[in-house]
Amino acid sequence: MNIRVGFGYDVHRFAEGRELWLGGVKIPHEKGLLGHSDADALLHAICDALLGATGKGDIGTHFPDTDPAWKGADSRELLRAVVGLLHADGWRVGNVDCTLVLERPKMMPHAEAMRNTIAPLLDLAPDAVSIKATTNEQMGHLGREEGVCAYAVALVQRPESKG
Ligand code: MG
Repeated sequence: MNIRVGFGYDVHRFAEGRELWLGGVKIPHEKGLLGHSDADALLHAICDALLGATGKGDIGTHFPDTDPAWKGADSRELLRAVVGLLHADGWRVGNVDCTLVLERPKMMPHAEAMRNTIAPLLDLAPDAVSIKATTNEQMGHLGREEGVCAYAVALVQRPESKG
C-alpha cells in the first residue's frame, strides 16, 4: 500500500448572531464563528489534512471564499466533496485525529455526535475518527475567547500502482 499522512489547521473568529457549528454538529452557545461558509473550523482542518496527504492543495484552492457558490456552505458538503476527490484517485481514508482548542463551550459532550457525523462522510467506523479538545489555559486570542482553532491529521492509503 501507498500510505501518506496529511496535516490541517484552521481558525475562525467568534461573532454575535452566528450559529456555532463544529465537527458538523450545531452546538448551543451565545456566539458562533465568522466565515464565508458555516465556519466549521474542525471540518475545514480535516479537509486540509486530506488534501495535504494527497497533494491536492488546500480548502481555499477548491472552495475559494470569493466564490458566492460557497457562501453559507454546509462544511459537511465541502468534506464530502474532498472525500470524493480522494476516492476518484483511489485513495481511502485510514483514520483522522483532531484537536479543538477553545475555552468555551465544552466540546467533549459533543465529541460522540461529531464522530458519528464525520465517520460516514469519510467512509470510516466512528472509532477511526478521534476528537479531542483542550483549552488554551486562558492565554492569547483563544484564551480570550476570540475564536476557535482546530488541528487534524489524516492517514490515507491506496494500492501501490503497478508501473
Ligand atoms: Mg475555515
